[in-house]
Amino acid sequence: MNIVLLGAPGAGKGTQSERLVNEFGIPHISTGDILRAAVKEGTPLGKKAKGFMDAGELVPDNLIIDLMKDRLSQDDARRGFILDGFPRTTAQAAALDAALSQDGRSIDCALAIEVPADVIVERLSSRRVCRSCGHAGTASDAACPVCGGEMYQRDDDKPETIKNRLAVYENSTAPLIDYYSGAGVLVRVDGNRDVDQVYADVKAAISHD
Ligand code: AMP
Repeated sequence: MNIVLLGAPGAGKGTQSERLVNEFGIPHISTGDILRAAVKEGTPLGKKAKGFMDAGELVPDNLIIDLMKDRLSQDDARRGFILDGFPRTTAQAAALDAALSQDGRSIDCALAIEVPADVIVERLSSRRVCRSCGHAGTASDAACPVCGGEMYQRDDDKPETIKNRLAVYENSTAPLIDYYSGAGVLVRVDGNRDVDQVYADVKAAISHD
């Protein structure tokens, strides 16, 4: 089961991934998580990525594509994967298809989680993330409801950066909806509902593969 999750920042990709991981046991691969860890550790990748991330811009395709080719060739991704935050440009999507097809793999399902822009802005502004397990909660969570860890606000969830991230999404990432629709693997899901209801549709879409 090779899944791509599409949707604006804050659409619920991470939340739905958490459930898919628990139920299906395939790895959740989030380029944002990988990049944040690289920034924290001060690796060469992290140093190159930080400025783009702070500004809400995309990290250049070549850095991301190399990173993901490497990640997808690891053993745990051979049985399937959930991609969250990648691809984000049509160049990344084409590179992903090329890399997968080299060893007879392909994307089975691209799930577009759709949420109106005003709801996205509200969600991102109040989003708080657990430092320990990465769970996404809200400003009303005093501690992580999953593991009790400390909740923090991502720098790029501050109002000045949110606007740019949404513009970048519209310009660079929204065209992927057409890309995957053309490939015949797109399923649209209404993400402006209760998490359980969204997950029911996500699961139904995957089971139809
Ligand atoms: P996310 O956690 O997916 O919202 O990603 C946070 C930030 O990491 C983005 O705003 C980008 O700066 C960078 N990033 C994550 N994934 C990608 C990608 N596939 N291509 C380029 N930049 C990315």
